[in-house]
Amino acid sequence: MNFYSKLVLALLIFISLLTCLESGQAFGNEEAIHIDTKDWIFPTSGKISDEFGTRGGEHRGIDISGSYGESVRTVEEGEVTKSYYSSSYGHVIFVSHPSGYETVYAHLSNRLVKEGAKVQKGQVIGQMGSTGRSSGTHLHFEIHVGAWEYNNDTTSIDPYIVFGKGEVGHEVLANLHTPYLSDSVHTHIEQQTQSEVHHIVKDGDTLWDIAIQYEIEVKDIMDVNELSDSLIVVGQELTIPKPLTSAHLKSIGFIEVLSTLGIEVNGV
Ligand SMILES: [Zn+2]
Repeated sequence: MNFYSKLVLALLIFISLLTCLESGQAFGNEEAIHIDTKDWIFPTSGKISDEFGTRGGEHRGIDISGSYGESVRTVEEGEVTKSYYSSSYGHVIFVSHPSGYETVYAHLSNRLVKEGAKVQKGQVIGQMGSTGRSSGTHLHFEIHVGAWEYNNDTTSIDPYIVFGKGEVGHEVLANLHTPYLSDSVHTHIEQQTQSEVHHIVKDGDTLWDIAIQYEIEVKDIMDVNELSDSLIVVGQELTIPKPLTSAHLKSIGFIEVLSTLGIEVNGV
């Protein structure tokens, strides 16, 4: 073998090694990704309308279609690396997470955070919309191992690796980790958890008793009922807010239903 053949061979080996390393980094160990991201939550509520890898491999995220203006939340704490208007992504927010991942939230109707902002897991950062290259109201959500790169996508991974295998039509709820298996479970939970409850104040009731009874904060009751102090009177009707939390799911017995179906609930 002459010098040039050796050089070409060495180059080929070097390139194939690089390719291996790169794909290892980008798509590598699913188990490791699953462990890193086991506490992530779905960024919004809606129905899965398109999956990763469709459109001839061009679709690098997952689409969740829902109501215009629906809250869009960060899946994990982090720092906003970009918040701007793009002709393709529309109003878009990028969040870099301490675990080393970067997530992208696109086609928003409204952005609520600026570049450099520190965000908590579940914090509302924007609202669902249809800006940019989008047909219909939905959130386009991407996950990258490492930082997102313009026009050079070697980092995106299938969100199903993080959240478990779903399919088009599955309902997902912000604050939960795994797509629901069927519409009926979802509808049932929504009816149970998102309708308001009214409490008529009985003799001896205090706001603290009522808060404990419904597993909510005193402050939430005061806010919803516009109370300026903790004084309540017998016969008064109080609106009890019922935010969707694992505590409420637990209190209405749905954790059992979900775990029977093999569904993980964040924080339980
Ligand atoms: Zn999309």
